[in-house]
Amino acid sequence: MLNPDVSGSAHPAALGPSTTAVHAGEARQKPGFSITDPIFASSTYTFRDTQSIIDFIEQKQPREEYGRYGNPGERVVEDKLAAIEGGESGVLFASGMAALVGLLMAHLNAGEEIVFFDECYHRSREFCRKHLTRFGVTFREVPTCDYAAMEAAITPRTKFIVSESPTNPHLSVVDIGRFAEIGRRHGVLSLIDATLCTPYNLRPLESGVDFVLHSATKYLGGHNDLLAGVVIGGQEKLEPVRHLRGIMGGVNSPHNAYLLERGLKTLALRMERHNANGLAVAQFLESHPRVERVLYPGLESHPYHALAVRTMRGFGGLVTFFVKDADWRQTARVIDSVKIPRIGPSLGGVESLIEQPLVMSYWNYSPTERATFRIPDNMIRLACGIEDSADLIADLSAALDCAR
Ligand SMILES: *Cc1c(COP(=O)(O)O)cnc(C)c1O
Repeated sequence: MLNPDVSGSAHPAALGPSTTAVHAGEARQKPGFSITDPIFASSTYTFRDTQSIIDFIEQKQPREEYGRYGNPGERVVEDKLAAIEGGESGVLFASGMAALVGLLMAHLNAGEEIVFFDECYHRSREFCRKHLTRFGVTFREVPTCDYAAMEAAITPRTKFIVSESPTNPHLSVVDIGRFAEIGRRHGVLSLIDATLCTPYNLRPLESGVDFVLHSATKYLGGHNDLLAGVVIGGQEKLEPVRHLRGIMGGVNSPHNAYLLERGLKTLALRMERHNANGLAVAQFLESHPRVERVLYPGLESHPYHALAVRTMRGFGGLVTFFVKDADWRQTARVIDSVKIPRIGPSLGGVESLIEQPLVMSYWNYSPTERATFRIPDNMIRLACGIEDSADLIADLSAALDCAR
C-alpha cells in the first residue's frame, strides 16, 4: 500500500470510534511533513521508465496508474472507512447509488435473484425492478422485518438479500443477526444499507453480514457538501466490485475524497450530537398535543425499541412525526413555519433538514400508491443536525403553535 505505516490500523479494534475516525488509514508521515493529506489533483500518474511500468504490472511496485483506477486520497478514505466499520476493505464510489449499482452489477448474473425488504431506499429498489430485470435478474420484495417471508422468497437461484436499518422514513429496525443468519444458512450474500445508523451506532459486519453500504453523502461526509458512497466487506468479495468500478468509472475526484476524509474526522462527535438531538426532539414531539405520533427507535413507544436498545449505540438524527388532525396543507404550514431546519431532501449533515414526504418524494403518486408506501398526508420527516437541541425544540414548538 501507499501508506505502510498507517497509524491505528495495527490495532483498529482496540481504539475507540473517535480515535479511529481521526487517525485510521492515514500515514504518520506525509509528503511535505503536512499533518493533512495532500490532494493529488492528477488524472494520470507517470513512470520513470519502461521497467517501472513492468514492475507495476507485475505488482512489484504498488502505486497509481490512472485516476479511474484509484487515487492516493481515495485509498486513505477507503482504509479509514474500512477501519471505522471494522471491515477488511472498502470501495469508494461517486455516490451511494453508484456504490449499490457497482456492488450488484459485479456479483449478479442473468438467471439469479435478489430479495429486498420493502422499506429500502426507493431508488435502490427501482434500480433492481426496472434495470437489473432487463438483464435477466429476478427482483422480489417482502415486508420489512418479516423474516419468514424473506426465507420463503429465497430459492436456489437467490444470490443476494438486501435491507436497510433503520429504514427511512418509517425507522423500522432490522435484527441484523437474524438477517445475516438467514443469508448464511441459504448460502446467499447479505447486504445492509447502514446509511441511517452509521458505523458509530451499528456494526452490521460484526453480526455476520457480507457487505455494508453507505451513502457517504449523509452522515459520513456530514456537511451537506459532497456526494459519495462506499461498500465495505471482505477483500476477496470486493475485488470484482473494485475492478468493475474501474470500468464503470463512478469514481470521486481527489478533491471530493479529501472533503470526505475531513468530514469523517468528526464522525463520532457529530453522531453523539445527532443522537442526542434526535432523542430530545422525539421526546418533545411525543409530548406535544398537536402531534399524533412520533416514529423514533429511541422512544419506548417505538415497535422496535427493545431491539434498537439491544443492538444500537444511539438512534440517529432522523425523526418522523404526524401532525394531529392535519390535512396536507396544514402539515405544510408547520414545515413553512420553522426557522432553523432548512426545507430539503437528504439527511445526516450538520444543518437540520425538514420535509413532507408526500410533497418531496410522493407528489406524483396516487393516493392508493401512497397508502401502500404508508406515506400519509400529515407525515413530516425531520433530519436533526448538530444545532442545540433547545433551539430546535423552541423552533418546532413555535411552528406547531403558529401553524395551528
Ligand atoms: C441517500 C441514500 C442513498 C443514495 O445515496 P446517494 O449518495 O444519494 O446516491 C441510499 N440509501 C439510503 C438509505 C440513502 O439515504
